[in-house]
Amino acid sequence: MGRLLSKSERLSERELSRRQVLQWAAAGCVFSGFPSLANAGKLLYPLTASKITDDTWAVYGLPEYFSSENGGHIVNVAFIDAGDGIVVIDTGTSKRFGEALRSLIEATIPGKPIIRVYNTHHHPDHVFGNQAFDRQTIAGTAEMRTALERDGTAFADNLYRLLGDWMRGTDTVLPGKLLAAGEETVGNRSFIHTPLAGHTESDLLIQDSSTGVLFSGDLSFLYRAPTTPSADLAVWLSALNAMQAMDVSMILPGHGPVDPKGESITQTRDYLIWLEGTLREAVAEGLTMNEAMALDIPSEFSGLYVVRTEFERSVVHLYRQLEDEIFDGIEVTR
Ligand SMILES: [Zn+2]
Repeated sequence: MGRLLSKSERLSERELSRRQVLQWAAAGCVFSGFPSLANAGKLLYPLTASKITDDTWAVYGLPEYFSSENGGHIVNVAFIDAGDGIVVIDTGTSKRFGEALRSLIEATIPGKPIIRVYNTHHHPDHVFGNQAFDRQTIAGTAEMRTALERDGTAFADNLYRLLGDWMRGTDTVLPGKLLAAGEETVGNRSFIHTPLAGHTESDLLIQDSSTGVLFSGDLSFLYRAPTTPSADLAVWLSALNAMQAMDVSMILPGHGPVDPKGESITQTRDYLIWLEGTLREAVAEGLTMNEAMALDIPSEFSGLYVVRTEFERSVVHLYRQLEDEIFDGIEVTR
């Protein structure tokens, strides 16, 4: 386990990208959606477990936005064989996804109970599979639980609209155990909990101290544009600085391939800085939201998956707030 490499020590972007995209593609996370459209008709999630290090598997989401074709299979989840039982990181988008994840875990590591399920944050693609697991094993922060209790119904309504039948029977299940900063032993492993914020009001980092793997939830994204519906950009940037200082072997981001070099931190930080600067400039120049949505995306970010969609969504999420901040009480009429 080593500290994340400095910028100069990292592999060239091209080399890293090629290797990781191949790894990602090999995991079934390819560019054209589901391996088989027949699966979509039957509402089956074609989940694949990819071993990323000792006793640790990632289940990669597709680099897409929610759709009735992908059933919301857009998020990374993970599981770890902790000797006496299995530890799960996030549960996916729907009850059906949670059940498919559970089946995949049972097929990969037969005969072991699931003894801990971590929820990294309250966004629906990370927690709506909770129903497939014993509530007493599900752990998250108190702030996350409060946020999910507040937003769960609205999230579910929105996902029913986007995903249709994939969501059938899905309800909000709140964590049965609350976590603060610290460390807990689960099976033969110990997991370090670091509560941060910025992507949402409560984002929990989980680190397996045996392998050094950091599960970042949506505090970092790789090759996929970050999402901002609940974001506080300044808080998020300081969370990324805290992550940068951590001693980790690799990061599994909430979306995108596994990240052995910390590139998800720098990529997310660079994107958020560009996003905020661009939107501030657009507000200052008096652009309408529609004009802002049409702005060019620089080449540094134009290759990120779903960047145009997420940029437009970010204008919707952040523009009014920035206008209020920048004009600070001056009446704006447009
Ligand atoms: Zn999220």
